[in-house]
Amino acid sequence: IAVASAKGGVGKSSVAVNLALALKENGARVGLMDADVYGPSVPTMLGITEAPEATADRKIHPLKSHGLQVISMGMLMPPDQAVIWRGPLVMSAIKQFLQDVLWDELDFLVIDMPPGTGDAQLTLVQTVPLAGVVMVTTPQEVALADVRRGINMFNKVEVPVLGIVENMSYFVCPESDKKYDIFGHGGGAQVARQFNLPLLGEIPIDPAIRKGGDSGKPAVEIEGSAVRESFLALARKVAELAIEPAKG
Ligand code: ADP
Repeated sequence: IAVASAKGGVGKSSVAVNLALALKENGARVGLMDADVYGPSVPTMLGITEAPEATADRKIHPLKSHGLQVISMGMLMPPDQAVIWRGPLVMSAIKQFLQDVLWDELDFLVIDMPPGTGDAQLTLVQTVPLAGVVMVTTPQEVALADVRRGINMFNKVEVPVLGIVENMSYFVCPESDKKYDIFGHGGGAQVARQFNLPLLGEIPIDPAIRKGGDSGKPAVEIEGSAVRESFLALARKVAELAIEPAKG
């Protein structure tokens, strides 16, 4: 299952990490592959500081973290170093993540895609049969224009789009309980209607998501939180949709 956004900064990695954990909490064996090679944020979001082990025959063991199997370019590079690579190198790194990582038996592999519609995305769809893509967007028009382009790209390469997640949908003030639509509201639903796709979830702006992402304690792990419930519900829908085509 790929988690994609045509635009950066909309919360794609946050959704990928919390979705992977929520799938695991719902009982599945889950791997998380951070294919965002230029901006790998999965290690920080999970609090991973170790490097994965390599075997003598140049295979890599994914790291076990929070009950997930995880691989990320961020584990293989010194901190604060930039990956300065052209397309072909990015493509071969992504191929290696799929082919040379010793994933244990998995029910789902969640892939945090790089933003955009370029080489890395094409390599992925050509290397592995994806069950589908979860498109993450924020509600405002500048993000939606990009998400429409993203959906059209996946349609062209015949990868099923499972649905849309609208992140940063609204903010509920903890003092007044009043709801604020900081980036507008309903854009995700509007794109979902336009492409006849399900709206899989509307995730509020919640400082717990930002804090959890920075401190390596993902928000989905906060027992009893609204964010946890929204990700568990999202995971149930995604699992159902991802398994459906295989059944048929
Ligand atoms: P992307 O992968 O699309 O670039 P990230 O997941 O890295 O985006 O999110 C960008 C920033 O916004 C991070 O600091 C993250 O913690 C924060 N963030 C993402 N979603 C939310 C949310 N719903 N509420 C609060 N902060 C969020």
